[in-house]
Amino acid sequence: MKSIKEIFDSFEKEEKTKNILLKEQEDLYPSLERFVDAQEQIYEMALEEVKNGKKLSHWIWYIFPQLKGLGQSGNSYYYGIDDIEEAKAYLKHPILGKRLQEITSAFLLLDKGAEEVFGGLDAMKVRSCMTLFDEVSEDDLFEKVLEKHYHGEKDELTIKRLYIKPQSDKILLGAIAGDVIGSFYEFHACKSTDFGLFYDASRYTDDSVMTVAIADWLLTGDSLLEIMQDYGNRYPAAGYGGMFYSWLKAREPKPYNSWGNGSAMRISPVGWAFNTLEETLEAAKQSAEITHNHPEGIKGAQATAASIFLARTGKSKQEIKKYIEQIFGYNLSRTCDEIRPTYLFDESCQGTVPESIIAFLESSDFESAIRLAVSLGGDADTMGAITGGIAEAFYGGVPEHIKKEVLKRLPNEFIKVMMNFYQKFVEKKI
Ligand SMILES: [Mg+2]
Repeated sequence: MKSIKEIFDSFEKEEKTKNILLKEQEDLYPSLERFVDAQEQIYEMALEEVKNGKKLSHWIWYIFPQLKGLGQSGNSYYYGIDDIEEAKAYLKHPILGKRLQEITSAFLLLDKGAEEVFGGLDAMKVRSCMTLFDEVSEDDLFEKVLEKHYHGEKDELTIKRLYIKPQSDKILLGAIAGDVIGSFYEFHACKSTDFGLFYDASRYTDDSVMTVAIADWLLTGDSLLEIMQDYGNRYPAAGYGGMFYSWLKAREPKPYNSWGNGSAMRISPVGWAFNTLEETLEAAKQSAEITHNHPEGIKGAQATAASIFLARTGKSKQEIKKYIEQIFGYNLSRTCDEIRPTYLFDESCQGTVPESIIAFLESSDFESAIRLAVSLGGDADTMGAITGGIAEAFYGGVPEHIKKEVLKRLPNEFIKVMMNFYQKFVEKKI
């Protein structure tokens, strides 16, 4: 069990990382429009009611929103705030943030108790709302309301839901961990294995978002195209390449003959979902060619998925090397020390997948695999993701100290999907 201080320390760290993301993602929550729409006819009336000290009509859900998951009703779900990021965006929103502060200030001025103003149930909802926004607000308005009207008692459930991530010792995380660690070095090549694994700026990028999308596809069997577009558009600032970004936005997206490493960075779940190598290769092809239908794009995805399949089915490094060299023609008979001095940033499959596999072949454990991949000084997050997926399969997981730091940096949605994936596909195979 974590102490409160640990929770808050880790939260503070997480916040710093997320602030960077948030700056790039001002438009991440266009869905806040649901509040603007709902408030349009009713806000002024709600404000008057609060000023007069008596709520008379029904508007609590979208005037004082709470964290999603606290209530059971459709309204509580629809108007529930997803997480810290959405709460921050709400406060920053030019209309919604201002109104929430205005109506909260009106409530603060009242000398009547919360129950008298709102009624018992809604008084609790307002407390949840105050608790939520106090956690993300820079001033003490919400705290003052909690002090004056709720004896300084926050809503414990809101705090708990906000900070405590789901139990996650059973989760597929290798590729995502490699992405998060590598993200710091994508544009600052580090030609050494001696580097810090995590910084405030270490973050998940497109590699992780699309890995989760592929896992979701394998779990649900729904349209891969729709799932990828859905995730891509909901996490728009993850650092997509230009062509892929256009594909995400297209009404009728078509593959664009790419040999970029995007097909390989997202493939790791495929390496776990099938019982035979043939099925694995076929699904890898299918998942690649929706965008990367160039033979090298397909090959990169297949070689990565095959490496994972072979690693998790007990093949030795020598066997994996031999198979990949024979089937895909990659030259794996080089060392990281030979590659590193002249290796440059490269986003092609043919220029990153073999090198990422070599980093795995040379490694002695998960961490050293990622260190070797990043040390080459190329597309570090993607190479981390490719190597990480294979290393996880070979070494049987991601070490706890890495897992902990990675999980702190992921949206709950990613964690849930990758845990479900683990439960359905990984658990029974290890
Ligand atoms: Mg990336």
